[in-house]
Amino acid sequence: MPKRPIVVVGSSNTDMIIKLERIPKPGETILGGEFVSAAGGKGANQAVAAARAGGRVAFIARVGRDMFGEQAIRGFVKDGIAVDFIFQDQHSPTGVALIFVAKDGENSIAVASGANARLSPADIRKAARAFQGAGFLLIQLETPLETVRAAADLAARKSVRVLLNPAPARLLPDGLLKKVFILTPNETEAEILTGIRVNGESGAARAAAALRGRGVATVIVTLGARGAYVSGLEFEGIIPGFKVKAVDTTAAGDVFNGALAVALSEGRALAESVRFANAAAAISVTRMGAQPSAPKRKEIFGFLISQATMA
Ligand code: ADP
Repeated sequence: MPKRPIVVVGSSNTDMIIKLERIPKPGETILGGEFVSAAGGKGANQAVAAARAGGRVAFIARVGRDMFGEQAIRGFVKDGIAVDFIFQDQHSPTGVALIFVAKDGENSIAVASGANARLSPADIRKAARAFQGAGFLLIQLETPLETVRAAADLAARKSVRVLLNPAPARLLPDGLLKKVFILTPNETEAEILTGIRVNGESGAARAAAALRGRGVATVIVTLGARGAYVSGLEFEGIIPGFKVKAVDTTAAGDVFNGALAVALSEGRALAESVRFANAAAAISVTRMGAQPSAPKRKEIFGFLISQATMA
């Protein structure tokens, strides 16, 4: 199948995670924690997920001129991602998330967006070459909205289809929604975008209809373990998720979106592409971490075959 490149625009963070007995209260110090650091940020997670799923990926982002930024770029190169348009900011550090995870699973997170907040429409213009001949632009909302709009505008001018994952949740202008080919909110995001209560299939169908009424061509509401509700011209209904033993659902949505962009950029049908994305995300929730848990293409196809023989 012909495979067209995917442009990912978005955030790149370093997650610094301390696992400990319980979350410290204000003013309190707790010893005995265990530290891990991991590459994160929705943009970076989705770029890595798409590259591992077999996509030809160019990532447009902004990191600091620091150790964390250098480390992130080395990771992207290892995954075969084109890094020509990852800008290194002179004035702001790489985005960092400080995360406490308590024994009972509760967490507390503080984010310093750093260089991500300075990814600008001018950066998108500088990276215009990456859009040439691309099949999809994959984008989220962890970078400034004016940058998201600039990327969607450029994509529209270059006939590149826009796949917008509206996370973290926020209201969006109709002008932007009209440029979106596929919108992929989870239940909370669909609810915030539309004001319609979304808890399962019927709410997802109503929210999807409302969003399509505002100009989005196709809406896919992800429903956690239940899979995804798809509302588009060629398909309307649930594509069920896969039964797995979930250990960490962080970034399930990111893996879903990265894999979805790959299947679509290969010209696969919508329902088949969502099934591929469900499989990739299901594998990722059986493993710890965001980027480390994103599966490779071979593994996704192996999983799909094993599921087909079980059915
Ligand atoms: P987000 O991570 O953005 O909150 P969801 O929780 O809806 O989004 O998950 C995104 C996708 O990940 C789902 O559509 C599904 O394919 C997959 N997924 C999430 N949780 C599970 C789970 N427990 N078991 C299997 N698949 C899952």
